[in-house]
Amino acid sequence: MSAQTEVAASRYLYGTDDGLAWQKFPGKAYVATWDVNVYNANARKARRPPYSRSSFTPLLGYDVKVEGPRPHTDQDATAPFLPGLATDSASAATALATGFKTDSGNISWLSGDPPDGELVTIAEEYRAKTGAGIGVISTVPFDHATPAAFVSHNTSRNSYYTGRRGYKGLGIADEIILRVKPDVVIGGGHPLLDNPDFNPKTGYISEALYLGLKTSPDYLLVERTAGGNGGRAVIEGAAAAFRAGKKLFGLFGGKGGNFEVPLAEDSPGSPLVKPATEENPSLAEATLAALDYLGRNPDGFFLVVEQGDIDWTNHDNDFRGMIGCVDDLDEAVRAATAFVDCPGDALDWTNTVLLVTADHATGGLFLDRGKRLGPGDLPRQDPRIADPENSPVAGSDRGIASNGTGLKTPVYSSLNMFPDEEVVYGTAGHTNELVDLAVAGAAVRYFMKYRGTWYPGLVLDNTQINAALREALGLSALGRRAARGS
Ligand SMILES: [Zn+2]
Repeated sequence: MSAQTEVAASRYLYGTDDGLAWQKFPGKAYVATWDVNVYNANARKARRPPYSRSSFTPLLGYDVKVEGPRPHTDQDATAPFLPGLATDSASAATALATGFKTDSGNISWLSGDPPDGELVTIAEEYRAKTGAGIGVISTVPFDHATPAAFVSHNTSRNSYYTGRRGYKGLGIADEIILRVKPDVVIGGGHPLLDNPDFNPKTGYISEALYLGLKTSPDYLLVERTAGGNGGRAVIEGAAAAFRAGKKLFGLFGGKGGNFEVPLAEDSPGSPLVKPATEENPSLAEATLAALDYLGRNPDGFFLVVEQGDIDWTNHDNDFRGMIGCVDDLDEAVRAATAFVDCPGDALDWTNTVLLVTADHATGGLFLDRGKRLGPGDLPRQDPRIADPENSPVAGSDRGIASNGTGLKTPVYSSLNMFPDEEVVYGTAGHTNELVDLAVAGAAVRYFMKYRGTWYPGLVLDNTQINAALREALGLSALGRRAARGS
């Protein structure tokens, strides 16, 4: 979720640039998201040694002078942000979950894939130390990179389950369900929609794991049903699981594994986002179910909530879908904020930290300053013209060149085009640009003190988010690499 993604959604939903729930949070910073692959590519170019944890130069990962001291916006920029290689979700989430920079594709595993490279995550460590509950939620498959990095360990994000494409090791889903056993897991990847034949070449969960969940002594399984209301089911499931002394597993999603994307309507003056189906919970409903369950733990909790379809829609350059997904996140953050605000329980802002950030930016979205969209206003969005002579770019490069930079949009395969050029995408991939961090709660100070330490200005590193969280949770400072189970 790039800064421009946030601004675009805020303009659609509220008519202002800062109307999203977290944009009002007191703690603000910008985050560098590079991983070891990005660093090493830049180091090679600069004839410097490759990344080493004991000796590295943060500015080789993100060069503030070249790439800018703050996220790219239409106020100070003239074209999509494109420079360089970028992190993937696995290494970015590993940085947040463990405080370690690693290689693209690694799920809480050390760079270079040593056999003993498993990294204990902050969720695991917090639970082991305090008895806190832990949970992960995603609108993409529950064992996709971002949730996985908090509750599993693997040298490849693609090792979704044992037996997939001949993978013989412990799969990510197997590890989550049978070994780490978070108290709450809610996400996509339902096999009956995504992979009903349990074809071992694809999918996110094996037949054995799925059948095991149905009769699990650990989990109460709530799953998507035809014609059912997923939000109600998961909220009732949370209460039922707690009563039964079980953990909560919510298995949803559609074809492709992710939740169907909420639909933003083009209705100038009256923004309107409709769920694509009631069969999946909204992110707010999933969050409330998890908070209801985890909030009953007297030792506290650690919950990761991902609106993973913001990334997926940005990969597709699907502006309309992206707006629906950011709205879904906005509603979830409002629900979480209200949950903390709610009087009469032990939870308040002195003992709770709520942070909103992105693991990285995707799509290089750029909004044309001269063609500002109002509330409820969507640009004309056409599916890609399947004509190889017509270069498949998102937006035309005319819109960019007219801003006087001479930059051209690179040709790449985009699924959507915007003929009126209110919005321009620069890539179907990830970018290395800074992303926003917003923090609420008394722990704000733990985060803000890192600004300006590795990079000038308001920038901090994604591994420093882990360091701040550790301090806020009363965990010892990093450095130590704890082996699993010790
Ligand atoms: Zn992505």
